[in-house]
Amino acid sequence: MAGTGTFVIVGGGLAAAKAAEALRDEGYDGRLVLVGEEHHLPYERPPLSKSYLLGKKNLEDTLVHPPEWYDDRDVDLHLGTRATALDLVGRTVSVGDELTGFDRLLVATGSTPRRLALADDSGAPVTYLRTLEDSRRIKESLQPGQRWCVVGGGWIGLEVAAAARGAGCEVTVLESLELPLLRVLGREVAQVFADLHRAEGVDLRVGASITGIEHVDGTAAVRLADGTSVKADLLLVGIGATPNVDLARSGGLAVGDGILTDERLRTSHPDVFAAGDVANAQHPVIGRRVRVEHWDNAIAQGAAAARNMLGAGLPYDRLPYFYTDQYDLGMEYVGHVDPDGADEVVLRGDPADGVFSAFWLHHQRVVAGMHVNDWDALDPIRAVVTSGAVDVDALRDVRVPLSDLVD
Ligand SMILES: Cc1cc2nc3c(=O)[nH]c(=O)nc-3n(C[C@H](O)[C@H](O)[C@H](O)COP(=O)(O)OP(=O)(O)OC[C@H]3O[C@@H](n4cnc5c(N)ncnc54)[C@H](O)[C@@H]3O)c2cc1C
Repeated sequence: MAGTGTFVIVGGGLAAAKAAEALRDEGYDGRLVLVGEEHHLPYERPPLSKSYLLGKKNLEDTLVHPPEWYDDRDVDLHLGTRATALDLVGRTVSVGDELTGFDRLLVATGSTPRRLALADDSGAPVTYLRTLEDSRRIKESLQPGQRWCVVGGGWIGLEVAAAARGAGCEVTVLESLELPLLRVLGREVAQVFADLHRAEGVDLRVGASITGIEHVDGTAAVRLADGTSVKADLLLVGIGATPNVDLARSGGLAVGDGILTDERLRTSHPDVFAAGDVANAQHPVIGRRVRVEHWDNAIAQGAAAARNMLGAGLPYDRLPYFYTDQYDLGMEYVGHVDPDGADEVVLRGDPADGVFSAFWLHHQRVVAGMHVNDWDALDPIRAVVTSGAVDVDALRDVRVPLSDLVD
């Protein structure tokens, strides 16, 4: 199988590009087709809300591979083309007007920002952030004195808020919960982000409920349930993303908050795999299916799916990892907290010092850990999370090196 047939990858993002790379690196020399709806070569999205917005990176810096890479490896690129239908019996994908046959297929179609109808229907200037075009448009609008209103205190909303403050804009963030990032980080650590943004001059309004959005002379007027309102030159909506499952559904693959896969990233059809934001994969360590919308997951899962397309049969057991950069705060997080939350959060160090770690415990086991501005801490944090069982008092004690906590 390794050297023959046609392998098709649908989705021109990071997971797709990393899968193509792994297939060629592993010696697959059959026909390799990559179909992507966007007109660009596969690119990385994290800079779109950080270094690119801040003017520290060019668009070319975001490419996963340079243009010649695809020629050198004989990757048959179909960019600016949507795969519209999947036929699992005939083993074809409809790409434009053609049917492309496959022996193995990887679906890496990613996710799409969740829409806010109230904003879309208002006619006011509204933007979302997913693509290079979105980011370019936002960058052009980051002018000193511009008023930005960010709906949603999630990662993307907060990162854009930080970039907008950096550019001298006035920024209001509307978060419906008591704190931004509350569901992901819990109260203790979410408070750190709330304090940071307020200290940087963001008007962060929590418990905010939007009752109406109006288009007034080219601007947005956002009315809130508490009777206040926010006027903005531009509204950024960052309220999460939904997996792009249309293609999978058209072929009858099992779908449920993403494409369902086993531990080997195999979908309900044995020759079809899924990876990246769209995959809801059984995780051997976490013990249930998880769908992870992170850069690191797209890289590692794309490559792992590729190896399994070649018959490696390896479970994907990497712990979820993500990072963020906001103002002078850099953070890395590894692990996974179930939706029912953590029982305890252990802080190591004082957040007021700007350098600290945090660990999430569930049923007395460490299930996730993160650091802020402590760049050597990631490997020991990963080891602690992988081990799970640690002495909690020692974990809290900054005098005990993290590396002493695991065998
Ligand atoms: C602004 C921004 C900032 C981010 N910052 C971070 C960060 O700091 N840290 C972090 O860990 N993660 C971050 N992420 C998340 C990370 O970028 C994603 O997890 C990653 O891009 C997922 O890669 P993917 O290949 O699975 O999907 P995508 O990048 O979404 O790529 C999927 C591609 O498939 C295409 N496609 C969809 N359907 C079809 C079809 N039917 N036919 C053809 N093509 C199709 C899409 O157009 C898209 O180009 C960020 C995301 C965004 C948007």
